[in-house]
Amino acid sequence: MYLVLLGPPGAGKGTQADLLSRDHDIPHISTGDMLRSAVSDKTELGEEAREHMERGDLVPDEVVIGVTRQRLAADDAAGGFVLDGFPRTVEQAESLGDIMEQDMGRSLDMVINLDVPETELIRRMTGRRICPTCGRNYHLVFNAPRSLGECDECGSDLIQREDDKESVVRQRLEVYQQNSKPLIDYYEDVGLLINVDGRGSVEQVHEKIEDILG
Ligand code: ADP
Ligand code: ADP
Ligand code: ZN
Repeated sequence: MYLVLLGPPGAGKGTQADLLSRDHDIPHISTGDMLRSAVSDKTELGEEAREHMERGDLVPDEVVIGVTRQRLAADDAAGGFVLDGFPRTVEQAESLGDIMEQDMGRSLDMVINLDVPETELIRRMTGRRICPTCGRNYHLVFNAPRSLGECDECGSDLIQREDDKESVVRQRLEVYQQNSKPLIDYYEDVGLLINVDGRGSVEQVHEKIEDILG
């Protein structure tokens, strides 16, 4: 299965992608996670991405397309994947189509667009905490770790993403507003788009998505 999850920041893409990855045994590919680890490892890619991410802006298309192309060339992606956070622009969507067709001989099965109202997005993002070691995500209220401030998986101290602070959250939502309509139209036109109401609990949203996938 070759899936894309679209939706505003905080919509639950990463959370749902983890569940889909587990249930369908396909890798969860998150450009945000890849970029964050490049920033923390201070690689060349990280240096290119850091300032854009800190401001809440998009990392330039050619940079993100390059890392995604590389990631999709790995063996584990050949049999399917769930992409989270990519594409974010029409140019990225066109490149993804080309990569899949030319490099993999495949095409996407479905693009799931998670729809969540803005007040809820802000609640979800400002309460988000992540594990800097294993990448697992939590929420202070909706998805709290068993032991306060500690990762259930690996025991590391949880952190708040710099870009989840309220001022940057606003900018990310604005950037999303600018890019989402053309991207959604693009996938609607090719008949791949499925809108899913992203309100409700993690389990409820997961069940809706599984129903659609049949
Ligand atoms: P969220 O899941 O909250 O939407 P992500 O972890 O996907 O956030 O992305 C964090 C940041 O990484 C974005 O604000 C952006 O700067 C950068 N980024 C991630 N994916 C892309 C992409 N496909 N194109 C451009 N920038 C990206
Ligand atoms: P995205 O990848 O779209 O930015 P995440 O999956 O990281 O979103 O979710 C954002 C925050 O909201 C996280 O703290 C996550 O634990 C929490 N969250 C995800 N789905 C739900 C849900 N259905 N209800 C409440 N909180 C949720
Ligand atoms: Zn962890």
